[in-house]
Amino acid sequence: MKCELIEGCLFFNKLDSKAGTALKEVYCLNNPALCARRQVAMAIGREFIPSDLTPNHNHRVQGIIEQVLSGQ
Ligand code: SF4
Repeated sequence: MKCELIEGCLFFNKLDSKAGTALKEVYCLNNPALCARRQVAMAIGREFIPSDLTPNHNHRVQGIIEQVLSGQ
């Protein structure tokens, strides 16, 4: 199942590298539920996804959500 956020996703549409291609294959085209960017979008809205957040940066998700919700 591919990600419903592909259209307009900065990571998917702007990153062209070997590593980026591998991540797109794993996350965007097959396992979007595991993607850190999508997790942020689902929790608080895609406008809050940091531009440098990659799909495998799951360790950052909780902190980003907390920061936005606390208004910082
Ligand atoms: S990086 Fe994440 S949010 Fe963007 S298209 Fe891929 S799975 Fe979806």
